Amino acid sequence: MEVRGGGGAGSGGAEHEHNRDIIIVGGGICGLATALAFHRKGIEKVVVLEKSEKLRAIGAGIITQANGWRALDQLGVAAKLRQTAVPLPNISIIFSSSGKIMYAFDNLLGRDGEMRCLKRADLMQALADDLPPNTVRFGCTVLGIKVDPSTSYPTVHLDDGTVLHAKVNFYP
Ligand SMILES: Cc1cc2nc3c(=O)[nH]c(=O)nc-3n(C[C@H](O)[C@H](O)[C@H](O)COP(=O)(O)OP(=O)(O)OC[C@H]3O[C@@H](n4cnc5c(N)ncnc54)[C@H](O)[C@@H]3O)c2cc1C
Repeated sequence: MEVRGGGGAGSGGAEHEHNRDIIIVGGGICGLATALAFHRKGIEKVVVLEKSEKLRAIGAGIITQANGWRALDQLGVAAKLRQTAVPLPNISIIFSSSGKIMYAFDNLLGRDGEMRCLKRADLMQALADDLPPNTVRFGCTVLGIKVDPSTSYPTVHLDDGTVLHAKVNFYP
């Protein structure tokens, strides 16, 4: 990947060349998990562009069902996260106004193996911690993605004028 122009993707104004093949836009749960999946497969030329200045976990908890835990197992972060996640054997969805129960699910652990509530910040930190250094670039706002007519590869345009060239771009 080649980085041209303005701030060089948050790198202080110099022009830079970066040998990255894959650009992921957005360092939320999806972007971080996608980057970690590439890393686990040995694909290292990946960068995640995140417009915030740091990891941004909106909301407190996230309920993760059995398929989510299988994905986290594959990503190699489930064992660590299970230490602080709260198992949920039963769930009731309740109208806040009336207190009436809309749905109630019992014995979830027995039926489908695993359902737990995680702190969002723990999940994002665990995904980010296992990425190679400098995989996530903060303060990089993507304005648009175009196709380079000469190569047919995507070009990613940042708000500071930087243009990034990649072979693959993910916009979760
Ligand atoms: C109230 C609520 C409760 C939920 N509860 C659950 C639950 O219990 N269980 C569950 O599985 N799911 C739950 N979800 C859904 C889950 O939170 C989302 O599916 C998940 O967070 C989406 O992650 P994401 O990475 O795709 O997107 P996001 O978390 O939105 O991340 C996108 C990232 O991209 C960055 N970004 C955006 N635009 C740009 C740009 N132009 N340039 C650079 N960076 C950019 C943002 O800053 C952000 O960090 C809930 C959602 C809500 C709203």
